[in-house]
Amino acid sequence: MNQPAGKPSLRDAIKDASMQKQKDMMAGHFDRLTSSHETGAKVCSTFVPGNLNELIMCFDMVNNLPEVNAIQSGLRGKSGAYVMEAERNGHSEDVCTYVKSDIGMMARGNIGPNGKEMPKPDMLLLSYTGCFTFLKWFELLREQYKCPTVFLQTPYMADGKITPNMIQYMVKQLKEDVIPTMEKVSGVKFDIDRLRENLRQSAKAEDDLVYILQSAKNKPSPIDAYFGGIYYIGPIFGAFRGTQDAIDYYRFLREEVDERLKLGLGPVTPEGPMEEEKYRLVVEGPPNYTHFRQFWKMFYEEGATVVASSYTKVGGTYDFGFRHDPDRPLETLAEYCLNVYTNRSLPMRIDMLVNYINEYEADGLLVNSIKSCNSFSAGQLMIMREVEKRTGKPAAFIETDLVDPRYFSAANVKNRLESYLQMVEQKRSGASKGVAA
Ligand code: SF4
Repeated sequence: MNQPAGKPSLRDAIKDASMQKQKDMMAGHFDRLTSSHETGAKVCSTFVPGNLNELIMCFDMVNNLPEVNAIQSGLRGKSGAYVMEAERNGHSEDVCTYVKSDIGMMARGNIGPNGKEMPKPDMLLLSYTGCFTFLKWFELLREQYKCPTVFLQTPYMADGKITPNMIQYMVKQLKEDVIPTMEKVSGVKFDIDRLRENLRQSAKAEDDLVYILQSAKNKPSPIDAYFGGIYYIGPIFGAFRGTQDAIDYYRFLREEVDERLKLGLGPVTPEGPMEEEKYRLVVEGPPNYTHFRQFWKMFYEEGATVVASSYTKVGGTYDFGFRHDPDRPLETLAEYCLNVYTNRSLPMRIDMLVNYINEYEADGLLVNSIKSCNSFSAGQLMIMREVEKRTGKPAAFIETDLVDPRYFSAANVKNRLESYLQMVEQKRSGASKGVAA
């Protein structure tokens, strides 16, 4: 289909310079992974929530994140076939589709996004942060790869607070189990000063990330904190936290955001800068990746910007003050794991979302309920009702899936989004009539 002159097709999406930089960083990381058999680098597979990149780097290991691999397969249109492959091999329809995409990819030659074979992990590091699927997923990988597996148990934040006992319990596991296994697998002796240095670097990038996310408090917001936010969190939630590359990336992004703020511009979408901000939304839940751009387009075509989202906190809730602290190197790793979104109780999640709606002056809450993600979906209806009650702002539900294209119904999502935005309009006109009266 021909595109109107001057208007880019979604395939040639417009990127800000930071998006291109992020893409190059990720490509470099995949090359490091797929060339590990030549370089001799050991590979540590772990999950985004609770990933201990600063520690992994102390042993010269490369961090491999199965969810990120599934996301890449989703974005490249490959995950549907992988999910079906896993189902043919007996994995149920209800299993998290990140898992099925990963298992299906392994069954079909384990080819990564750069077209090269992904490495076999030398160890599996399971920081268990609230989602039971992580545990089951690594049991499957352990069976396949038969490599050393370490389980770092993170106590669930059921009471909404971190106690000294929780930290001690985790530090003990780090000292007695995690670090000795990493030394054995890598052949590198643990150096706590190296860890401190990595943590110092993390904190610098975290400061800039928070500045960027909080820039959405401005009107118009210079960023989209969900669709754009997913690009922004890539380096810090993945293999770059604790590196100079991450510091440079977030500084660069911050300057870009500052420039847009100065000019009063909205977010950059795949079709260029958003013209007018009509709605400011908070979104709960992960996005759909198989139709990511189509999904985003539904929002920006309506002038809807997401000003805050819970998903951009799965790898760390820095906006509530946590920073990696080089003066308490092991304790800070424990606190990091405890704080991630998947490890937070439902009341904590509600507080967070209410806070976002108020602080970012949002019009309401939209929940993207993911069919196969029990960890996010459990309690979402209750979360929605409670947030609505406490903020007086409308909330609504849409349903998609992570990387299973069979569960993305564009017409349904669009319909529901449009009805929701009408609800927002009605609420606004009701409020202005109230003021006039
Ligand atoms: S949090 Fe959801 S998407 Fe992530 S591993 Fe658990 S079930 Fe899958």
